[in-house]
Amino acid sequence: MTVFESLAQNDHEQVVFCQDKESGLKAIIAIHNTVLGPSLGGVRMLPYNNEDDALRDVLRLSRGMTYKAAVAGLNLGGGKAVIIGQTCVGKSELLFRAFGRFVEGLGGRYITAEDVGVTVKDMEYVRLETQYVCGISESLRGAGDPSPVTAHGVYVGMKACAHEVWGSDSLRGKKILVQGLGKVGYNLCQHLVNEGADLYICDTDDSRVKLLLRNMPATMVRPEDLFNTPVDIFSPNALGAVINDKTVELITAPIVAGGANNQLEHEDSHGARLKERGILYAPDYVINAGGLINVANELEGYSRDRAIKHAESIYSVIKQIIQTSKDQNISTTEASGRLAEQRINKIGHLSRYYTGRSEYSGRFSFLYNR
Ligand code: NAD
Repeated sequence: MTVFESLAQNDHEQVVFCQDKESGLKAIIAIHNTVLGPSLGGVRMLPYNNEDDALRDVLRLSRGMTYKAAVAGLNLGGGKAVIIGQTCVGKSELLFRAFGRFVEGLGGRYITAEDVGVTVKDMEYVRLETQYVCGISESLRGAGDPSPVTAHGVYVGMKACAHEVWGSDSLRGKKILVQGLGKVGYNLCQHLVNEGADLYICDTDDSRVKLLLRNMPATMVRPEDLFNTPVDIFSPNALGAVINDKTVELITAPIVAGGANNQLEHEDSHGARLKERGILYAPDYVINAGGLINVANELEGYSRDRAIKHAESIYSVIKQIIQTSKDQNISTTEASGRLAEQRINKIGHLSRYYTGRSEYSGRFSFLYNR
């Protein structure tokens, strides 16, 4: 497939290939859609096997950001960037500043942030060259770690699912298995314990399990017993593809609701299979949108309270998705995709008549003018 064919396949607007000999920078910035606003998405640094893999990854991820921002009610589009390189040897101030200059050159069509393989420190170099960056540290009046807001969103999204299945938001006494006790999972556990849930925990890193057990009551589940433990809610908060052809048949919990990205190995078929099996699945990019909400909030002058309030809207978005899934007899993954597309189409219609592209002048002013 040619590059233009790849772009046309999912309707990407623009892809920028960036190279800088002195720093060794090889990066690709993909802007999927800017109908709702400037594209926002992290930059990840990975030693891709080849350029095709890097391009595929950035196209897939930038498209995902469009849907995530749209469903979260943000005036943002979808974008993403990848830097091809080894994080252990390839990083330097020069490299990230060179990347920052390319971002600046896009004049606000793409706003970058931290992602896999990139740290807050790296983003501070990027920030020396461009204003179009967020996810910087609290000391620089940034949003800092998004995980508590992500976890809050997962918690309220889980309550929306509980309301659907049991007729009440309450998680008191519910057996909830949290897989992954990292930054998101740990914060989520705190909410669940505060509410009186019966917590089950699983992590491949013993130190995370021990840390949690020192601070909260919970039952430890070994990774090999993840799908043999009868629970009311399974909450994946570790890595992607936890739900695949094999595990989709083993889940017995009536609800799957967690913060991990790309929980379904194949979104369409596994989303449909969960529905067939009567399992309510909270689409990952909807329920974990608190991280993006937190970062986007920085663009307006960061307020943790405002970010948390916005993340609470995940409750009603999940309810809406469940309703659409029931009304149209489609999976929740399909319902969330339709919701995102509806919003983009409606606002796209408005922007053709009222706003145009002139809003891209002035620091982030375009975010509030819509
Ligand atoms: P993290 O690296 O802090 O935590 C991940 C945890 O999962 C680690 O403790 C790790 O030991 C554990 N783990 C890895 N493989 C496992 C397995 N097979 N079984 C059990 N435990 C396992 O990451 P995080 O920031 O907490 O993010 C967790 C997930 O949520 C990721 O998929 C991430 O992409 C997604 N996410 C995070 C945020 C955020 O704000 N941090 C926002 C949106 C989505």
